Amino acid sequence: MTGENSVGCEFSAEGSCLFQTFNPVKNKSNPTFFIEATIDEVNRAVDLAQEAYSILPTISVVQKADFLEEISLQILSIGDNLLDCFVSETGLTIERAIAERTRMLMQLNAFADLVRKNEWVEPSIDPGNVNRNPKKPDLRKMLVGIGPVVVFGASNFPFAYSTAGGDTISAFAAGCPVIVKSHPLHAGTGELVANAIVKAVMKTGMPKGIFSNLNAVNLAVGKQLVLHPKVKAVGFTGSISGGRALFDMANSRPEPIPVFAEMGSVNPVVILPESLSENNEKWSDLLAESITSGVGQFCTNPGLLLLIDSEESTFFLETLVTKVLNREAAPMLHPSILERFESAKREACKVPFISLHEKKGDIPINATRQTILTVNASVFMSNPLLQEEVFGPFTLVVICKSLNELEESVAVLKGQLTGTIMGSVENKEKYKTIFSTLHQKVGRLIFNEVPTGVEVCPSMHHGGPYPATTDSRFTAVGTDSIKRFARPMVYQNFPEELLPEILRDQNRMKIERRINGAWTKSDVHA
Ligand code: NAP
Repeated sequence: MTGENSVGCEFSAEGSCLFQTFNPVKNKSNPTFFIEATIDEVNRAVDLAQEAYSILPTISVVQKADFLEEISLQILSIGDNLLDCFVSETGLTIERAIAERTRMLMQLNAFADLVRKNEWVEPSIDPGNVNRNPKKPDLRKMLVGIGPVVVFGASNFPFAYSTAGGDTISAFAAGCPVIVKSHPLHAGTGELVANAIVKAVMKTGMPKGIFSNLNAVNLAVGKQLVLHPKVKAVGFTGSISGGRALFDMANSRPEPIPVFAEMGSVNPVVILPESLSENNEKWSDLLAESITSGVGQFCTNPGLLLLIDSEESTFFLETLVTKVLNREAAPMLHPSILERFESAKREACKVPFISLHEKKGDIPINATRQTILTVNASVFMSNPLLQEEVFGPFTLVVICKSLNELEESVAVLKGQLTGTIMGSVENKEKYKTIFSTLHQKVGRLIFNEVPTGVEVCPSMHHGGPYPATTDSRFTAVGTDSIKRFARPMVYQNFPEELLPEILRDQNRMKIERRINGAWTKSDVHA
């Protein structure tokens, strides 16, 4: 580990601002000093990215796919060093490190397949017709990379949502160079993964400017990147305040650019009364695991449960509280995250509540006490602060007097990544307002499962109306996330030899193309 930046795949350490990462389990700093990128290094990274962007359209899809696969091989070849570094910078378990690495590698290979097939560019051809009156122009459309992309990863996913996470890989796949603003809490993990990407760039002959990894402990590096005129899009995973700040910054530019900010959410879970008794054990097990896994540090953590007051719901809550509090407390990612958690929890607990349950007894250093706070629906609806994400093992339970009050509570919810309904199909008519209201507020509706665990596949949508994300039309997880970093490009009346291969008359790659509005693998016939 060098602590250096990687600027267009070259090591660089021109700055004087140094910082270290922190091991929350050992309660001490990790040894490497990281060197924050300077203004010149940021400018160089962006200039090189712009150069690479103009070369990328000339590189074959096979080479691009090989590059993504090579990144995955290079990451795997780092072996235990990478896993140890992940653990030492997060306090998370080795099992979690392995699982998240698997997810990162799966993402890489899924995007390699996508690039190789090349259908994601949605080729669309409407051949011209000179005999029509008026004359119909020949129009051929496909998606192309948007330009240099800046990626901000989150503290809680050093692999899956960081250096070689979904944003970086989907941007590469779309044909965009990437500059990663490395997360200061896991800069070492970031450096090791960055080195693997650099090796893959060299081995597969990609342009060096396709990738830079810049260290930063202050906000200035991120700001400079977002405001740089050659940067064309931003992928962000993190808090609502961070995402919103970058979104506003990007919109204040003379040339505004899209910021795909995937932010926090409270992921409401509506628990309906009819089938509660028979599912008491099953649902309380599922929820207790979901609330506490990863020390509650997941964007899909179920932070809000809504129930109608009844004997069954009281018993369910007692069971759930016992199960949540019985779980081991573990260190949070960093003392600053612990501090943020405690402060947000204190704020939430200032409202008049029905009950407050916290884990008791000794807990490890830098750990927190998982907490369940119960309030009346009227308190919930009159305190918008209770809708803010408390990032960590905290869940707010809202007790409603009636179905009407449950409907009103759901109606005041802001945009969310997910919404969950626990109930039975038989009562669908009775609860149709709950279903339809949640439908308007979330990107993923879940029935009798929990929101944690975001499968990487084409049918996933990890996004939702603001403030869950800044653009609910796009996903941060799954192969459709490539669309964030692509824009449509139309060629009108272009001679065959000037057209990209995929839009020519002959369908050499034998892929699905839309010709005159119908999907086909045929050639274009004059
Ligand atoms: P964070 O504090 O918002 O930081 C994320 C990154 O953005 C960091 O690199 C941070 O740099 C940078 N940043 C934040 N504010 C900035 C600003 N004003 N200007 C420039 N850069 C800025 O979030 P985090 O604590 O790392 O991650 C936890 C949060 O991520 C939780 O809210 C969680 O729900 C959310 N999350 C969302 C998803 C999703 O897909 N929706 C997935 C995982 C996590 P510094 O660290 O240097 O400030």
